[in-house]
Amino acid sequence: MKKPIIIWFRRDLRIADHSALCAAVATGRPVIPVFICDPMMDALGAAPKWRFGLGVEHFAKTLAALGSRLILRRGEPLTVLRDLIRETDADAVYWSRAYDTDGIARDRAVKAGLQNDGIDAQSHMGHVLFEPWTVANKSGGYFKVYTPFWKTVRGRHLDACLPAPRTIPAPDVWPNSEAIDDWQLGQGMQRGRDVVSRYVCVGETNAQGRLDTFLDHAIGTYEHNRDFPEKPATSRLSENFAYGEISPRMVWHAAYGAMQKGAQGGEHFLKELVWREYAYHLMYHFPALADQNWRSEWDAFHWLPDNENAERWRRGMTGEPMVDAAMRELYATGTMHNRMRMIAASYLTKHLRTDWRVGRDWFAQCLIDWDPAANAMGWQWVAGCGPDASPYFRIFNPATQGEKFDKSQSYRKRFLFDENSAEQRAFFAAIPKSWGITSGTPYPNPLVSLADGRIAALEAYRAMRGRS
Ligand code: FAD
Repeated sequence: MKKPIIIWFRRDLRIADHSALCAAVATGRPVIPVFICDPMMDALGAAPKWRFGLGVEHFAKTLAALGSRLILRRGEPLTVLRDLIRETDADAVYWSRAYDTDGIARDRAVKAGLQNDGIDAQSHMGHVLFEPWTVANKSGGYFKVYTPFWKTVRGRHLDACLPAPRTIPAPDVWPNSEAIDDWQLGQGMQRGRDVVSRYVCVGETNAQGRLDTFLDHAIGTYEHNRDFPEKPATSRLSENFAYGEISPRMVWHAAYGAMQKGAQGGEHFLKELVWREYAYHLMYHFPALADQNWRSEWDAFHWLPDNENAERWRRGMTGEPMVDAAMRELYATGTMHNRMRMIAASYLTKHLRTDWRVGRDWFAQCLIDWDPAANAMGWQWVAGCGPDASPYFRIFNPATQGEKFDKSQSYRKRFLFDENSAEQRAFFAAIPKSWGITSGTPYPNPLVSLADGRIAALEAYRAMRGRS
């Protein structure tokens, strides 16, 4: 009797280009796919936790179509895996490597525990193109600036994608599985669940469809159009990357192929894809990226803690239309266009001088594409305290940004001023009643004048430089 191999799935909910799954199937031994709702999953914000659950449910169906199953368990991973090993007589556990700080710590402890039990615990290449430790500068350190990082990796050889297995060998007897509904992953979404569900795109096949649409219609003009929130100009794949529903290598090869056939925006797109790699590179080498200023001189900056103005920011009621439209896009759809993320984050950290971690936390609650590394890097970049950051004195002016990137105001109308738009209705259907806002609530005056906010921010910055 061949002993089974357990595959512990996490943020890698796919069958194509999956190193750990391919390695297990290649042994010819029975494979037991497992997903564990662990404390890291419990700690997720409302929207990503709920969206993760949708991905798990969908993935269970994908596995079932291959004659397999996804066994669901809740608890501490090492305890759960030990229970499963006992129940199934498995002697090996494979998984895809995680590259975020908490994921690495969890996996190290699990690996040590299993190896101590004599189990073959194997981690395989995970959801990146280049594992963080494989990219180094000339002195062997990590890259503190993006462009040389990009120049180092852009010409690297990437192996071909691994094909999806046609079948997955099943064990004679399956262990028990919990029911995902019992995990109540959507509990924190309250009224938002039905609303945001209109905007999600779940699973491997849908992710592949998104990629195809992008390659067919948008990659050619990507560089020129990607900053305009009303244009369907970007891939929207961040949602699928967050749960591993598509592999970055597959996307890289597809975009690279399009570029070679003449797609103008191809190189720029690959460059953006590599920003995701860079985020993991930074987090791996500076594990406190999500919590601490990367530039320590910023510890002397007088950020305001969470405050009433920040609450108005969260609710899309600052009186600054570009910012409010962005915040409403976030709440109603679970995502936000990249340019709008920069504008909204700049307004919070500069015009409102509020600690970037307040914004980080709200994004972590609301984004269905929440990613621990990209979110942390994005906030530190905008706030000015991160590596290769936008300098603090570069303060986005939401009004001029609007003139440039939403000239016709159609984005602002859709999320803010057209009460018949689907997005407006979605926003008011999703927000908690306790916010006390309805479509009839008058739009507020600006919290601060853009000029005064800018001057105060620059003064605070100068004061920090005097202190540090
Ligand atoms: P495309 O333009 O199609 O780009 C393709 C892929 O490249 C994206 O899917 C993404 O994986 C990667 N990418 C593009 N831009 C960036 C970037 N600036 N940083 C890292 N990766 C990038 N991205 C997340 O995935 N999760 C987050 O939690 C997140 N939080 C952010 C917070 C702030 C304050 C800022 C400024 C940016 C944040 N980003 C985050 C990065 C970026 O906004 C999104 O990746 C992008 O909007 C996703 O849209 P898309 O898939 O259409 O991107």
